[in-house]
Amino acid sequence: MSDYTPIIGLEIHVELKTRSKMFCQCPADHFAKKPNTQTCPVCLGLPGALPVPNKKAVDWAILLGLALNCKVSHESKFDRKNYFYPDLPKGYQISQYDQPLSTDGYLNIDGKRFKIHRVHLEEDTGKLLHVGTDTLIDFNRSGVPLVEIVTEPDFHDSEDVKRFLEELHTIVRYLGISDADMEKGSMRLEPNISVSLNINELPNYKVEVKNINSFRYVRNAIDFEVKRQIELLEKSEKPKQETRGYDEKKQTTYSQRSKEEAQDYRYFPEPDIPPMVFKEEYINKIKSNLPELPSAKLNRYVEKFNLKKQDAYTLSRDINVANKFETVLKIQVSDNIKPADIANVILNKKDRSSLTVEEIKEEVKKRKQPIHTDEKILALIIDQTLKSNPKVVEDYKKGRENAIMFLVGIVMREMKGRADAKLVIDKLKSRIEKLNAKS
Ligand SMILES: [Zn+2]
Repeated sequence: MSDYTPIIGLEIHVELKTRSKMFCQCPADHFAKKPNTQTCPVCLGLPGALPVPNKKAVDWAILLGLALNCKVSHESKFDRKNYFYPDLPKGYQISQYDQPLSTDGYLNIDGKRFKIHRVHLEEDTGKLLHVGTDTLIDFNRSGVPLVEIVTEPDFHDSEDVKRFLEELHTIVRYLGISDADMEKGSMRLEPNISVSLNINELPNYKVEVKNINSFRYVRNAIDFEVKRQIELLEKSEKPKQETRGYDEKKQTTYSQRSKEEAQDYRYFPEPDIPPMVFKEEYINKIKSNLPELPSAKLNRYVEKFNLKKQDAYTLSRDINVANKFETVLKIQVSDNIKPADIANVILNKKDRSSLTVEEIKEEVKKRKQPIHTDEKILALIIDQTLKSNPKVVEDYKKGRENAIMFLVGIVMREMKGRADAKLVIDKLKSRIEKLNAKS
Protein backbone atom coordinates (compact mmCIF):
# COMPACT_ATOMS: atom_id res chain seq x y z
CA MET A 1 0.00 0.00 0.00
CA SER A 2 1.10 3.51 -0.76
CA ASP A 3 1.67 6.18 1.90
CA TYR A 4 0.58 8.99 -0.38
CA THR A 5 -2.59 10.96 0.35
CA PRO A 6 -4.56 12.48 -2.53
CA ILE A 7 -5.04 16.25 -2.19
CA ILE A 8 -7.90 17.50 -4.31
CA GLY A 9 -9.49 20.89 -4.88
CA LEU A 10 -12.35 21.74 -7.20
CA GLU A 11 -13.30 24.47 -9.61
CA ILE A 12 -16.87 24.38 -10.75
CA HIS A 13 -18.41 26.60 -13.42
CA VAL A 14 -22.16 27.12 -13.46
CA GLU A 15 -23.96 29.02 -16.23
CA LEU A 16 -26.74 31.18 -14.85
CA LYS A 17 -30.13 31.02 -16.56
CA THR A 18 -30.76 34.75 -16.60
CA ARG A 19 -32.77 36.07 -19.55
CA SER A 20 -29.93 38.16 -20.94
CA LYS A 21 -26.15 37.82 -20.96
CA MET A 22 -23.75 39.16 -18.34
CA PHE A 23 -22.92 42.53 -19.89
CA CYS A 24 -25.39 43.01 -22.79
CA GLN A 25 -29.00 42.43 -23.75
CA CYS A 26 -28.45 39.32 -25.93
CA PRO A 27 -30.38 36.20 -24.81
CA ALA A 28 -28.32 34.03 -22.44
CA ASP A 29 -30.00 30.78 -23.50
CA HIS A 30 -27.64 29.63 -26.23
CA PHE A 31 -28.16 25.88 -26.33
CA ALA A 32 -28.86 24.51 -29.85
CA LYS A 33 -29.41 28.00 -31.27
CA LYS A 34 -28.26 28.86 -34.79
CA PRO A 35 -24.58 29.87 -34.45
CA ASN A 36 -23.79 33.59 -34.12
CA THR A 37 -27.43 34.73 -34.07
CA GLN A 38 -27.29 35.99 -30.46
CA THR A 39 -24.48 38.49 -30.51
CA CYS A 40 -23.93 42.24 -30.35
CA PRO A 41 -20.93 44.61 -30.26
CA VAL A 42 -20.54 44.05 -26.49
CA CYS A 43 -20.31 40.24 -26.49
CA LEU A 44 -18.32 40.27 -29.74
CA GLY A 45 -15.84 42.63 -28.09
CA LEU A 46 -16.06 45.33 -30.77
CA PRO A 47 -14.16 48.56 -30.02
CA GLY A 48 -16.12 51.16 -28.08
CA ALA A 49 -18.84 48.79 -26.82
CA LEU A 50 -19.60 49.31 -23.13
CA PRO A 51 -20.44 46.42 -20.77
CA VAL A 52 -23.29 46.91 -18.28
CA PRO A 53 -23.47 44.25 -15.52
CA ASN A 54 -26.62 42.14 -15.25
CA LYS A 55 -28.06 42.85 -11.79
CA LYS A 56 -29.93 39.55 -11.64
CA ALA A 57 -26.71 37.60 -12.32
CA VAL A 58 -24.94 39.50 -9.52
CA ASP A 59 -27.82 38.82 -7.10
CA TRP A 60 -27.93 35.13 -8.02
CA ALA A 61 -24.19 34.70 -7.60
CA ILE A 62 -24.50 36.30 -4.13
CA LEU A 63 -27.44 33.99 -3.36
CA LEU A 64 -25.32 30.96 -4.24
CA GLY A 65 -22.51 32.28 -2.04
CA LEU A 66 -24.96 32.57 0.84
CA ALA A 67 -26.29 29.04 0.24
CA LEU A 68 -22.66 27.87 0.51
CA ASN A 69 -22.23 29.65 3.85
CA CYS A 70 -19.85 32.25 2.39
CA LYS A 71 -19.13 35.77 3.60
CA VAL A 72 -20.45 38.21 1.03
CA SER A 73 -18.02 41.02 0.24
CA HIS A 74 -19.30 44.53 0.86
CA GLU A 75 -17.03 45.77 -1.89
CA SER A 76 -16.43 43.84 -5.07
CA LYS A 77 -15.24 44.58 -8.59
CA PHE A 78 -14.69 43.12 -12.03
CA ASP A 79 -11.25 42.58 -13.57
CA ARG A 80 -9.88 41.80 -16.98
CA LYS A 81 -8.19 38.43 -17.27
CA ASN A 82 -5.92 38.77 -20.28
CA TYR A 83 -5.11 35.84 -22.48
CA PHE A 84 -5.28 35.02 -26.14
CA TYR A 85 -7.56 32.32 -27.41
CA PRO A 86 -9.77 32.29 -30.53
CA ASP A 87 -13.01 31.91 -28.49
CA LEU A 88 -12.27 35.20 -26.69
CA PRO A 89 -12.64 38.07 -29.17
CA LYS A 90 -11.70 40.86 -26.74
CA GLY A 91 -8.38 39.27 -25.82
CA TYR A 92 -9.52 39.29 -22.20
CA GLN A 93 -12.33 37.78 -20.16
CA ILE A 94 -14.22 39.91 -17.65
CA SER A 95 -13.85 38.04 -14.37
CA GLN A 96 -13.07 38.82 -10.75
CA TYR A 97 -9.57 38.70 -9.31
CA ASP A 98 -8.86 40.02 -5.81
CA GLN A 99 -12.37 41.06 -4.74
CA PRO A 100 -14.72 38.18 -5.51
CA LEU A 101 -18.41 38.44 -4.59
CA SER A 102 -18.02 36.04 -1.69
CA THR A 103 -15.40 34.01 0.18
CA ASP A 104 -14.77 31.57 3.02
CA GLY A 105 -17.77 29.26 2.85
CA TYR A 106 -18.27 25.59 3.47
CA LEU A 107 -20.54 22.67 2.79
CA ASN A 108 -21.07 19.81 5.25
CA ILE A 109 -21.45 16.37 3.72
CA ASP A 110 -22.09 13.36 5.95
CA GLY A 111 -20.46 14.99 8.93
CA LYS A 112 -17.40 16.19 7.01
CA ARG A 113 -16.82 19.87 6.30
CA PHE A 114 -15.40 20.97 2.94
CA LYS A 115 -14.31 24.61 2.76
CA ILE A 116 -15.14 26.91 -0.11
CA HIS A 117 -12.43 29.40 -0.99
CA ARG A 118 -14.46 31.79 -3.15
CA VAL A 119 -17.45 32.31 -5.40
CA HIS A 120 -17.09 34.82 -8.21
CA LEU A 121 -18.83 35.94 -11.35
CA GLU A 122 -17.43 36.06 -14.87
CA GLU A 123 -18.51 35.79 -18.48
CA ASP A 124 -18.45 32.64 -20.57
CA THR A 125 -16.38 32.45 -23.76
CA GLY A 126 -17.41 31.54 -27.29
CA LYS A 127 -17.41 27.96 -28.45
CA LEU A 128 -15.06 26.36 -30.96
CA LEU A 129 -16.55 23.85 -33.39
CA HIS A 130 -14.22 21.56 -35.25
CA VAL A 131 -15.62 20.65 -38.65
CA GLY A 132 -13.28 18.47 -40.68
CA THR A 133 -9.98 20.35 -40.80
CA ASP A 134 -11.68 23.72 -40.11
CA THR A 135 -12.40 25.32 -36.78
CA LEU A 136 -15.50 27.49 -36.59
CA ILE A 137 -16.40 29.87 -33.76
CA ASP A 138 -19.89 30.34 -32.33
CA PHE A 139 -20.20 33.47 -30.19
CA ASN A 140 -23.73 32.78 -28.89
CA ARG A 141 -22.20 31.60 -25.60
CA SER A 142 -19.81 34.55 -25.40
CA GLY A 143 -20.80 36.73 -22.42
CA VAL A 144 -23.22 34.29 -20.77
CA PRO A 145 -23.05 34.76 -16.97
CA LEU A 146 -20.87 32.15 -15.33
CA VAL A 147 -20.35 31.57 -11.62
CA GLU A 148 -17.09 29.98 -10.57
CA ILE A 149 -16.94 28.13 -7.27
CA VAL A 150 -13.48 27.32 -5.98
CA THR A 151 -13.04 24.96 -3.03
CA GLU A 152 -10.07 24.60 -0.73
CA PRO A 153 -7.93 21.50 -1.40
CA ASP A 154 -9.92 19.72 1.32
CA PHE A 155 -10.72 16.46 -0.44
CA HIS A 156 -8.71 13.27 -0.01
CA ASP A 157 -11.11 10.81 -1.54
CA SER A 158 -12.81 10.73 -4.94
CA GLU A 159 -16.08 9.49 -3.41
CA ASP A 160 -16.24 12.59 -1.16
CA VAL A 161 -15.75 14.73 -4.26
CA LYS A 162 -18.64 13.00 -5.98
CA ARG A 163 -20.93 13.48 -2.95
CA PHE A 164 -19.94 17.15 -2.67
CA LEU A 165 -20.65 17.79 -6.35
CA GLU A 166 -24.01 16.05 -6.15
CA GLU A 167 -24.96 18.23 -3.19
CA LEU A 168 -23.78 21.40 -4.93
CA HIS A 169 -25.74 20.42 -8.05
CA THR A 170 -28.89 19.91 -5.97
CA ILE A 171 -28.41 23.28 -4.23
CA VAL A 172 -27.98 25.12 -7.54
CA ARG A 173 -31.22 23.55 -8.82
CA TYR A 174 -33.00 24.41 -5.56
CA LEU A 175 -32.03 28.06 -5.97
CA GLY A 176 -33.43 28.02 -9.52
CA ILE A 177 -30.43 29.94 -10.85
CA SER A 178 -29.24 27.38 -13.42
CA ASP A 179 -30.37 24.17 -15.10
CA ALA A 180 -26.94 22.83 -14.11
CA ASP A 181 -27.32 20.43 -17.01
CA MET A 182 -23.93 18.80 -17.43
CA GLU A 183 -24.68 17.31 -20.83
CA LYS A 184 -25.33 20.82 -22.15
CA GLY A 185 -22.27 22.19 -20.39
CA SER A 186 -24.17 24.45 -18.02
CA MET A 187 -22.25 22.88 -15.12
CA ARG A 188 -18.56 22.05 -15.73
CA LEU A 189 -16.28 20.30 -13.30
CA GLU A 190 -12.52 20.69 -12.92
CA PRO A 191 -10.70 18.84 -10.15
CA ASN A 192 -7.08 19.70 -9.44
CA ILE A 193 -5.20 16.78 -8.07
CA SER A 194 -1.87 16.10 -6.42
CA VAL A 195 -0.59 13.52 -3.95
CA SER A 196 1.51 14.09 -0.85
CA LEU A 197 3.23 12.06 1.86
CA ASN A 198 2.02 14.63 4.38
CA ILE A 199 -1.72 15.35 4.43
CA ASN A 200 -1.07 18.87 5.76
CA GLU A 201 1.48 19.80 3.13
CA LEU A 202 0.48 20.99 -0.32
CA PRO A 203 2.82 19.60 -2.98
CA ASN A 204 4.49 22.15 -5.27
CA TYR A 205 2.62 20.94 -8.32
CA LYS A 206 -0.95 20.18 -9.26
CA VAL A 207 -2.67 18.61 -12.22
CA GLU A 208 -5.94 20.11 -13.37
CA VAL A 209 -8.38 17.96 -15.31
CA LYS A 210 -10.60 20.17 -17.47
CA ASN A 211 -14.29 20.24 -18.30
CA ILE A 212 -15.58 16.91 -17.06
CA ASN A 213 -19.32 16.53 -17.53
CA SER A 214 -20.40 13.83 -15.08
CA PHE A 215 -19.87 13.13 -11.38
CA ARG A 216 -18.84 9.57 -12.13
CA TYR A 217 -16.22 10.73 -14.63
CA VAL A 218 -14.80 13.12 -12.04
CA ARG A 219 -14.41 10.22 -9.64
CA ASN A 220 -12.79 8.06 -12.33
CA ALA A 221 -10.47 10.86 -13.46
CA ILE A 222 -9.31 11.45 -9.87
CA ASP A 223 -8.72 7.74 -9.25
CA PHE A 224 -6.71 7.48 -12.47
CA GLU A 225 -4.65 10.60 -11.70
CA VAL A 226 -3.85 9.56 -8.14
CA LYS A 227 -2.57 6.21 -9.36
CA ARG A 228 -0.58 7.77 -12.21
CA GLN A 229 1.05 10.37 -9.96
CA ILE A 230 1.96 7.86 -7.26
CA GLU A 231 3.56 5.62 -9.88
CA LEU A 232 5.67 8.55 -11.11
CA LEU A 233 6.72 9.55 -7.60
CA GLU A 234 7.68 6.02 -6.73
CA LYS A 235 9.99 6.05 -9.73
CA SER A 236 11.43 9.29 -8.28
CA GLU A 237 9.87 11.35 -11.06
CA LYS A 238 7.88 14.47 -10.28
CA PRO A 239 4.46 14.79 -11.94
CA LYS A 240 4.34 17.79 -14.28
CA GLN A 241 2.18 20.80 -13.42
CA GLU A 242 -0.25 20.70 -16.32
CA THR A 243 -3.79 20.69 -17.62
CA ARG A 244 -5.13 17.33 -18.71
CA GLY A 245 -8.27 16.15 -20.45
CA TYR A 246 -10.39 13.13 -19.56
CA ASP A 247 -11.01 10.31 -22.03
CA GLU A 248 -14.40 8.81 -21.14
CA LYS A 249 -13.93 5.65 -23.18
CA LYS A 250 -10.48 4.71 -21.91
CA GLN A 251 -11.19 6.16 -18.43
CA THR A 252 -7.80 7.85 -18.52
CA THR A 253 -6.48 11.41 -18.54
CA TYR A 254 -4.16 12.81 -21.20
CA SER A 255 -1.83 15.80 -21.32
CA GLN A 256 -3.22 18.98 -22.90
CA ARG A 257 -0.93 21.86 -22.00
CA SER A 258 1.32 23.03 -19.21
CA LYS A 259 -0.63 25.11 -16.73
CA GLU A 260 -0.46 28.88 -16.71
CA GLU A 261 0.25 30.53 -13.38
CA ALA A 262 -2.22 33.18 -12.28
CA GLN A 263 0.26 35.99 -12.98
CA ASP A 264 0.49 34.91 -16.61
CA TYR A 265 -3.00 36.29 -17.09
CA ARG A 266 -2.03 39.88 -16.20
CA TYR A 267 -5.24 40.76 -14.38
CA PHE A 268 -6.18 44.40 -14.05
CA PRO A 269 -9.36 46.21 -12.95
CA GLU A 270 -12.06 46.49 -15.61
CA PRO A 271 -12.07 50.26 -16.29
CA ASP A 272 -15.54 50.32 -17.89
CA ILE A 273 -17.43 48.95 -14.87
CA PRO A 274 -17.49 50.85 -11.57
CA PRO A 275 -16.74 48.84 -8.40
CA MET A 276 -19.79 47.39 -6.63
CA VAL A 277 -20.79 48.21 -3.06
CA PHE A 278 -23.27 46.00 -1.19
CA LYS A 279 -24.85 47.30 2.00
CA GLU A 280 -25.74 44.89 4.78
CA GLU A 281 -29.47 45.37 4.17
CA TYR A 282 -29.06 44.60 0.48
CA ILE A 283 -27.31 41.32 1.31
CA ASN A 284 -29.99 40.53 3.91
CA LYS A 285 -32.68 41.08 1.30
CA ILE A 286 -31.05 38.49 -0.96
CA LYS A 287 -30.64 36.19 2.04
CA SER A 288 -34.38 36.34 2.65
CA ASN A 289 -34.84 34.64 -0.73
CA LEU A 290 -32.87 31.58 0.33
CA PRO A 291 -35.14 28.54 0.26
CA GLU A 292 -34.84 25.72 2.76
CA LEU A 293 -31.81 23.82 1.44
CA PRO A 294 -31.82 20.09 0.64
CA SER A 295 -29.88 18.94 3.72
CA ALA A 296 -32.16 20.95 6.05
CA LYS A 297 -35.20 19.53 4.28
CA LEU A 298 -33.88 15.98 4.65
CA ASN A 299 -33.37 16.46 8.40
CA ARG A 300 -36.83 17.96 8.83
CA TYR A 301 -38.44 15.05 6.97
CA VAL A 302 -36.70 12.59 9.27
CA GLU A 303 -37.30 14.46 12.52
CA LYS A 304 -40.76 15.92 11.97
CA PHE A 305 -42.36 13.33 9.70
CA ASN A 306 -40.53 10.24 10.88
CA LEU A 307 -39.47 9.25 7.37
CA LYS A 308 -36.60 6.81 6.87
CA LYS A 309 -33.38 8.65 6.08
CA GLN A 310 -33.03 7.08 2.64
CA ASP A 311 -36.64 7.98 1.76
CA ALA A 312 -36.19 11.54 3.01
CA TYR A 313 -33.01 11.80 0.94
CA THR A 314 -34.70 10.62 -2.26
CA LEU A 315 -37.69 12.93 -1.72
CA SER A 316 -35.59 15.99 -0.98
CA ARG A 317 -33.21 15.65 -3.95
CA ASP A 318 -35.55 17.30 -6.42
CA ILE A 319 -37.22 20.46 -5.17
CA ASN A 320 -40.25 19.90 -7.42
CA VAL A 321 -40.84 16.45 -5.98
CA ALA A 322 -40.31 17.76 -2.45
CA ASN A 323 -42.80 20.56 -3.09
CA LYS A 324 -45.44 18.09 -4.30
CA PHE A 325 -44.93 15.96 -1.21
CA GLU A 326 -45.41 18.99 1.04
CA THR A 327 -48.43 20.23 -0.92
CA VAL A 328 -50.26 16.90 -0.53
CA LEU A 329 -49.24 16.86 3.12
CA LYS A 330 -50.89 20.25 3.63
CA ILE A 331 -54.13 19.26 1.89
CA GLN A 332 -54.61 16.57 4.56
CA VAL A 333 -56.24 13.97 2.35
CA SER A 334 -57.91 12.27 5.30
CA ASP A 335 -57.36 11.80 9.03
CA ASN A 336 -55.66 8.43 9.07
CA ILE A 337 -52.96 9.35 6.55
CA LYS A 338 -49.40 9.62 7.75
CA PRO A 339 -46.60 11.52 5.95
CA ALA A 340 -44.98 8.15 5.22
CA ASP A 341 -48.09 7.08 3.25
CA ILE A 342 -47.73 10.06 0.93
CA ALA A 343 -43.97 9.55 0.68
CA ASN A 344 -44.47 5.90 -0.27
CA VAL A 345 -46.82 6.75 -3.11
CA ILE A 346 -44.24 9.14 -4.55
CA LEU A 347 -41.26 6.88 -3.93
CA ASN A 348 -42.95 3.92 -5.61
CA LYS A 349 -43.23 5.81 -8.88
CA LYS A 350 -40.35 5.60 -11.33
CA ASP A 351 -41.07 8.91 -13.02
CA ARG A 352 -41.53 11.14 -10.00
CA SER A 353 -41.10 14.43 -11.79
CA SER A 354 -44.18 14.01 -13.99
CA LEU A 355 -46.40 12.93 -11.09
CA THR A 356 -49.07 15.56 -10.32
CA VAL A 357 -50.33 16.59 -6.90
CA GLU A 358 -53.80 15.36 -7.91
CA GLU A 359 -52.46 11.92 -8.85
CA ILE A 360 -50.59 11.58 -5.57
CA LYS A 361 -53.72 12.58 -3.65
CA GLU A 362 -55.92 10.03 -5.44
CA GLU A 363 -53.39 7.24 -5.03
CA VAL A 364 -52.99 7.93 -1.31
CA LYS A 365 -56.78 7.91 -0.88
CA LYS A 366 -57.17 4.70 -2.83
CA ARG A 367 -54.56 2.89 -0.80
CA LYS A 368 -56.18 3.91 2.46
CA GLN A 369 -59.68 2.80 1.49
CA PRO A 370 -60.82 -0.49 3.00
CA ILE A 371 -60.76 -3.17 0.33
CA HIS A 372 -64.13 -4.65 -0.48
CA THR A 373 -63.70 -8.40 -0.61
CA ASP A 374 -66.09 -10.85 -2.25
CA GLU A 375 -66.10 -13.52 0.46
CA LYS A 376 -67.58 -16.23 -1.78
CA ILE A 377 -64.81 -15.85 -4.35
CA LEU A 378 -62.22 -15.71 -1.58
CA ALA A 379 -63.50 -18.98 -0.06
CA LEU A 380 -63.41 -20.64 -3.48
CA ILE A 381 -59.85 -19.51 -4.20
CA ILE A 382 -58.71 -20.61 -0.75
CA ASP A 383 -60.16 -24.10 -1.28
CA GLN A 384 -58.50 -24.41 -4.68
CA THR A 385 -55.17 -23.23 -3.28
CA LEU A 386 -55.27 -25.71 -0.41
CA LYS A 387 -56.20 -28.54 -2.74
CA SER A 388 -53.38 -27.89 -5.20
CA ASN A 389 -50.70 -27.42 -2.51
CA PRO A 390 -51.14 -30.38 -0.14
CA LYS A 391 -47.47 -30.53 0.71
CA VAL A 392 -47.35 -26.93 1.85
CA VAL A 393 -50.49 -27.49 3.93
CA GLU A 394 -48.82 -30.50 5.56
CA ASP A 395 -45.73 -28.39 6.31
CA TYR A 396 -47.89 -25.79 7.99
CA LYS A 397 -49.67 -28.43 10.04
CA LYS A 398 -46.29 -29.73 11.17
CA GLY A 399 -45.63 -26.32 12.66
CA ARG A 400 -43.83 -24.47 9.87
CA GLU A 401 -45.50 -21.08 10.30
CA ASN A 402 -43.76 -19.69 7.19
CA ALA A 403 -45.61 -22.11 4.95
CA ILE A 404 -48.79 -20.09 5.39
CA MET A 405 -47.17 -17.06 3.74
CA PHE A 406 -46.55 -19.06 0.59
CA LEU A 407 -50.28 -19.83 0.43
CA VAL A 408 -51.17 -16.19 1.20
CA GLY A 409 -49.07 -15.14 -1.78
CA ILE A 410 -50.97 -17.43 -4.13
CA VAL A 411 -54.38 -16.34 -2.84
CA MET A 412 -53.46 -12.64 -3.00
CA ARG A 413 -52.32 -13.05 -6.58
CA GLU A 414 -55.53 -14.84 -7.55
CA MET A 415 -57.62 -12.15 -5.80
CA LYS A 416 -55.79 -9.48 -7.82
CA GLY A 417 -55.51 -7.14 -4.87
CA ARG A 418 -59.20 -7.36 -3.93
CA ALA A 419 -58.40 -8.77 -0.51
CA ASP A 420 -56.55 -7.64 2.53
CA ALA A 421 -53.52 -9.79 3.48
CA LYS A 422 -54.57 -10.05 7.13
CA LEU A 423 -58.03 -11.26 6.16
CA VAL A 424 -56.51 -13.86 3.82
CA ILE A 425 -54.24 -15.20 6.58
CA ASP A 426 -57.17 -15.49 9.03
CA LYS A 427 -59.40 -17.24 6.48
CA LEU A 428 -56.64 -19.61 5.39
CA LYS A 429 -55.85 -20.64 8.97
CA SER A 430 -59.46 -21.21 9.96
CA ARG A 431 -60.12 -23.19 6.76
CA ILE A 432 -57.14 -25.48 7.40
CA GLU A 433 -58.31 -26.01 10.98
CA LYS A 434 -61.81 -26.87 9.80
CA LEU A 435 -60.51 -29.38 7.25
CA ASN A 436 -58.25 -30.81 9.95
CA ALA A 437 -61.14 -31.31 12.33
CA LYS A 438 -63.12 -33.14 9.63
CA SER A 439 -60.39 -35.60 8.69
ZN1 LIG B 1 -24.45 40.72 -26.78
